[in-house]
Amino acid sequence: MIGITADCPATVRLFDENSYMSTFEAEVIECREYDGKYAVILDKTAFFPEAGGQPADIGTLTLPESNCAADVLDVRQVDDVIVHIIAKPVKLGKIRGEIDFETRYERMRNHSGEHLLSGLAHRHFSCNNVGFHLNDDGMTVDFDRRLTAEQVLSLEDEVNRIIAENPPVAAYFPDAGELAELDYRSKLELSGRVRIVVIGSGGQIYDRCACCAPHLSAAGEVGMLLITDFMNYKGGTRLTVVCGRNAYKQARTAMTNVKRIAAGFSAKASNAAKAVEDFLLRNEAEKAAAAAVCRSYIELRLSGLNQTEGNMIFFEPSLDKNSLRRLVDKAADMCSIAAGFGAEGSSGRPYVIISRMVDLRSIAKSLNEKMGGRGGGSAGMLQGTATAPEEELKNIFLKEDRF
Ligand SMILES: [Zn+2]
Repeated sequence: MIGITADCPATVRLFDENSYMSTFEAEVIECREYDGKYAVILDKTAFFPEAGGQPADIGTLTLPESNCAADVLDVRQVDDVIVHIIAKPVKLGKIRGEIDFETRYERMRNHSGEHLLSGLAHRHFSCNNVGFHLNDDGMTVDFDRRLTAEQVLSLEDEVNRIIAENPPVAAYFPDAGELAELDYRSKLELSGRVRIVVIGSGGQIYDRCACCAPHLSAAGEVGMLLITDFMNYKGGTRLTVVCGRNAYKQARTAMTNVKRIAAGFSAKASNAAKAVEDFLLRNEAEKAAAAAVCRSYIELRLSGLNQTEGNMIFFEPSLDKNSLRRLVDKAADMCSIAAGFGAEGSSGRPYVIISRMVDLRSIAKSLNEKMGGRGGGSAGMLQGTATAPEEELKNIFLKEDRF
């Protein structure tokens, strides 16, 4: 916690009046060491301190006579005083401040977009905004009610329609009498001066909300609002939302991906989802047809076998693991030991050996040694891989005395 001297005057908040001010001149009132850095207090500032879910501005403080600039790393509010955290000390006296306005402007676009979204969610679905977090990729907005996908989409639609209408956005401090009459959204029971941000004018007010952050002067500058995700969250709904330049960037990235997917299916981008769904349906049907062929093959294979007291061996490179096991399992009803081998790979042939009559576990070790194999299992079934050549494997299983 940064301590401030008791008689330190309240900092004039230039961003309250003009959120587009990116440079300003001020007096350094205090500069002292703080946590390996320096805490600087000015008489006035355009740097917004971290508050209400919006991060602190970044930028520079420059001594006018020397042009020596210090990066503003963080900005915090302690009571009515705004403290700038910088890496090197500055002298008392005149200073020029410059905020990174590109970053600030995108935050304003997101924050004003969020007000519009939350205002509409409140009006249409009685949602209260109970959580808001803004970062430089976008924001999360938490509502205290569950919303359906349709409701979320309808909000996005309406916000973008209003952005195109370009209603004014204004921030002001109503007096206590006016405030008492006003209908506005607020997360907290507020006392003292309350800053109201209003979107719309005259008889067409889209939102009125208590907020200390810098906002746009017209909703059209939000550009675009995209709800990129939503989920149930603590009994309500968490929306992931992005506005402004990042909304365009994310839409562009999504479009590029959709086009690549569509090209893979020789479809138009607007038809990509249907092309993928059709492919998946075809794939399922092909898999079902292949499984039916496999089952028929196994039945055919078994029908050509005769009951024997000896063993059976199968080399089935085109059967998958499950089908091979099914064949061997059924064959085990007709013989002493049934052994099946799949397609040869770099580590040998996968095998499955099943018996109802012989305790396979008791012969697993010697069997693996003979087969140049690795594997194990239960008394009834062994699985693993074998490297011995086909002829050698036939000799092992078809000559009983080899166990
Ligand atoms: Zn706000």
